[in-house]
Amino acid sequence: METNFAIAIHGGAGTIPKGSLDQKAEQAYTDALQEALNIGYDLLEKNYSAVEAVEAAVKALEDCPLFNAGRGAVFTNTGTHEMDACIMDGSNLAAGAVCGVSGIKNPIELAKAVMLKSEHVLLSGKGAEDFAKLLQLPFENDDYFYSAFRFEQWQELKNSDVFLLDHSLPIAQKSGTVGAVAIDKNGNLAAATSTGGMTNKKFGRIGDSPIIGAGTYANNNVVAISCTGHGEPFMKAVVAHDVACLMQYKQMSLQAACNEVIMNKLPKINGEGGLIGIDNFGNIALCFNSEGMYRGLKNNQGQNEVAIYR
Ligand code: ASP
Repeated sequence: METNFAIAIHGGAGTIPKGSLDQKAEQAYTDALQEALNIGYDLLEKNYSAVEAVEAAVKALEDCPLFNAGRGAVFTNTGTHEMDACIMDGSNLAAGAVCGVSGIKNPIELAKAVMLKSEHVLLSGKGAEDFAKLLQLPFENDDYFYSAFRFEQWQELKNSDVFLLDHSLPIAQKSGTVGAVAIDKNGNLAAATSTGGMTNKKFGRIGDSPIIGAGTYANNNVVAISCTGHGEPFMKAVVAHDVACLMQYKQMSLQAACNEVIMNKLPKINGEGGLIGIDNFGNIALCFNSEGMYRGLKNNQGQNEVAIYR
């Protein structure tokens, strides 16, 4: 029997006060989010799996320089780009992730290859890049990942110990980590997240995005979640899995569980950010404690929404 199907996406959370983007920038973000939503939704409509839909939506956002993932990844302290990505299939708890990878055009594609073509869950740095080469996945040179506004963001922080959430940077043209969650016509759930991490990060810092249960989680019995925000508190609070546990063991609704974790628990450890979630009935939550989160949802009951501010 076919179930309701739906997809939700995010393009990062952070300090995005209303009026901080001019109309042109706002339109560009809105269009990019809508396009990614449509790509994922069309696949679900054509009976593709939730895994294929979230991968395609995240890939579209990775290819868009506005977001801090793939092409638009932020600069590290040494002027490189180190990306993290993760995908999880809720039907069998299969998962694949990569962290600290450079030069890969679509880290989410590599994460999916780790899930489907290796015996591992998480590959890092050079080893992950070697695996991508073996599979002949596309690489790009530094020019592809360069953008003037990201470079400026980095220049402001470069000689400091400060590392910042992309959306909290004190200059215009902010954008963030990307993610998608979906339920397909067979009731299968999936989640995917991809990021360049935090601007000016150093020492091989890895955030929550590629960590199963922290930034990304999917389980058909409960929920699919993709997070965005300051990764360190998200890891300490094991955010995505905590939401799933509250739903599974405490019978909380998706929205109530998200409120408990994002609005109540996280602020106590200075955790700024949010998440998107879809439960096994197709209910969707887009929850954040920051000023804004780039986000959108589309389902087969006619809902189609894209938003930025609170
Ligand atoms: N969570 C990501 C990280 O800490 C950053 C983000 O979501 O913008 O790496």
